[in-house]
Amino acid sequence: MVITNKLLNGNEKYEDEELIAQRHYVVFGDQDDLTPLAESNPKQISVEGQKYSPQYFESLKQKFGVQPPKDAKWKFNWQGPGNRCWCHNRLNKNNNICSLCKKEWDY
Ligand SMILES: [Zn+2]
Repeated sequence: MVITNKLLNGNEKYEDEELIAQRHYVVFGDQDDLTPLAESNPKQISVEGQKYSPQYFESLKQKFGVQPPKDAKWKFNWQGPGNRCWCHNRLNKNNNICSLCKKEWDY
């Protein structure tokens, strides 16, 4: 998923050049095929028309960066079976899904 810059006001051409200078990439996750490139300006991130603050994505990175305990037999995932989601719901069955974690993971 590509997160695009939204130009909110002012001279578009000027802001465009500003944004290119400020552009940076944020990598979520560690699997290449699941890694979206996110473009953002420092104040705002837009995903499919909805706006999120960079702090929100920072909190998501922390949430999904958590590792299970070393002796755990389960892994963090948003779907079962045998996993737990990041809000610590137990997803023991095949069709257990945490829709919140799925939605946030997709970002
Ligand atoms: Zn969850």
